[in-house]
Amino acid sequence: MPKITDRQTIVDPTIGLPAQKKRRGVQESNSTSSQYPEEKISVLKNCVKTVLTCIGEDVTREGLLDTPKRVAKAWMDVSIGYRQDTVGMLGVTSDRPGGAFFSDGTVAQGSNGIVIVRDIDFASTNEATLLPFHGRCHIGYIPSAGVVLGLSKLARITKHFGKRLQSQQGLVTDIASCLQTHLQCQGIAVYAEAKQIMPLNVEEPRQEICLGGCFADDEDQFQEFLALLNKPVPSKSSIHILSSSKTSSPDCHQLRPISPALSADSGAAEGDIQICSASSPSSEDSTICLTDGPVASALGCAPNSTSSKMASAINEMIRQIGEDPQSQNLCKSAMRYASGLLASTQGYSMSLPSKETSLVASKTCDLNILRDISYTMADGARGRSSVATASVIFNSQCEHHMLPFYGRVLVAYMMPQGTEKVLGRCAIEQVVRVYTQRLQVQERITHQLADAVCELSGSAGVMVVCQAAHMCMLARGVENHSGATSTFAVRGTFEGSVELRKCVLQAFNA
Ligand SMILES: [Zn+2]
Repeated sequence: MPKITDRQTIVDPTIGLPAQKKRRGVQESNSTSSQYPEEKISVLKNCVKTVLTCIGEDVTREGLLDTPKRVAKAWMDVSIGYRQDTVGMLGVTSDRPGGAFFSDGTVAQGSNGIVIVRDIDFASTNEATLLPFHGRCHIGYIPSAGVVLGLSKLARITKHFGKRLQSQQGLVTDIASCLQTHLQCQGIAVYAEAKQIMPLNVEEPRQEICLGGCFADDEDQFQEFLALLNKPVPSKSSIHILSSSKTSSPDCHQLRPISPALSADSGAAEGDIQICSASSPSSEDSTICLTDGPVASALGCAPNSTSSKMASAINEMIRQIGEDPQSQNLCKSAMRYASGLLASTQGYSMSLPSKETSLVASKTCDLNILRDISYTMADGARGRSSVATASVIFNSQCEHHMLPFYGRVLVAYMMPQGTEKVLGRCAIEQVVRVYTQRLQVQERITHQLADAVCELSGSAGVMVVCQAAHMCMLARGVENHSGATSTFAVRGTFEGSVELRKCVLQAFNA
C-alpha cells in the first residue's frame, strides 16, 4: 500500500484563483477572437460555405447566415494554442524572467512531497478526426530543490496544449514534457480521461497517462499518485513514458523527447508500455478503424467527388489555423472529417416513416409503459391513461458552429384507448435520426419530434424531453464543462396537466 504523508498536497484548481483573475482570462479570450486577421476569417468563411453546400445545405437560409463566420472564429479559438507563447503560459515575461516559479525553503527541506492539481477540465480537437474530445486532466509532480509552480499555471498549460489539433496521448505528453523541462522536477505524472466524439457516437471515456522521472522509474510512486487520485490502475497500453533527459530549451513547442531506454522496473520487459514523443501519432491507429473503416463504408461514405471537394476546403482551413494538412498526422484528417460529416448529416436524405410502418400491435409494443396514470387537467377535469416512453440517444451538429452536440431524448405519448396498434420503437428511432442527423438546434429538434410523434401516433398527448451536451459551449466560448441543455415540448393533453408532465420527467430521470 502506498504511504500517504502529510506533505502531499491536493489542490482544486478553482480554489485560490482570485475571481478578478478568472474574469480577466475570459475577457482575454473574447478580445482575442475579435482580433483574428480579417483575411484569415474571410478564407475560412469561404471554405465553410463550400462544406455547407457539399452536405446539401442552403447557405442563405436564416439559421445559417452567420454560420461561416461563427465556424471560422470557432476554428481560430480551438487552435489558439499554436499562437500562444508556451513559456508565457508559465508566467515568464521579459520583466519577470522567473515566471510563476518560486522556491520554498520548507519544501526544499522536506522529502518528495507530491503536489497534485486535479480535475482540470479541458477540451481539445482530435487531429485524426477534427472532432472534439473533452474530459479532465490531473497533474502531479514532485518538486526538486523546493521549486514549485503557481498552481493555476498547471490548468493554464493544460488548456494551452488542448487548443491545438491533438491526440489524447499527444496532449498528456506535451503537458508532461513542458512541465518536466521548465520545472526540472523529480517526477511528473499527467493523467487525462476523455471522451472522444465520433461522427455518429461518443466513445466511452478513455485514459491516457504520461509519466516522467521518478513516476516512471518507481512503480510505488506511480501507485501513490493513483491512490491520491482514487483511480484504478490503468491498462499498460495507456501509460506513456517520457524521456528522462532534462533540457533547458526555453521553448517546449520544439521539445521532442528522445525515446529513452526504459528502466527495468517500469514494466518494459512486457513490452507494452509505450515510449512517446510529443508528436506521437499512435492515437491515429485507433481512430482510423472507426472513421475510415466500418462507420464510413457502412454508411456509403467512401471518398467521392463531394467528399473530395469538402476535404480540399477543410485542408485549406487546417492551413489557415497554422497547421500543415500534408503532415503525417493530418494528411487523412480532412477526408475523415468530410466522410464523418456526410455520415452524420444523412437526415437530409432520409424520410419519416409512414403511418403504416410505424404502428405495431400494442401487445408487442417494445416501449416502456407507465400504466394507468391518473391526472387532473387545469380546468379540474380528471382523466386516466397509460403513457408509452422511449429513450433514444442521439448525435447532432449545431448549425451555428458546426460542432457536435449529443445526448438523450425521451419521447412519451398517451396510449390511445381501445386501439390495436401503437407507435413502435423503430419508428421513433427513425424519426429521431431524421431530425438529428443534420445541422440543427436542440430547441427545434424537440418540437419537430413532438409534432412528428403526434402525427404518427395519433395520440391525444405527446411530450418530448431532450438533454444534450454542446461542444460549442464546452470547447470554445464560455467553455462550460458541467452544463447540459434541456429542452421540452408538449402537445395536447400534456399541455394541461402537470401530473402527466411530472410522470414523464420521472421516467426521464430514472
Ligand atoms: Zn453552437
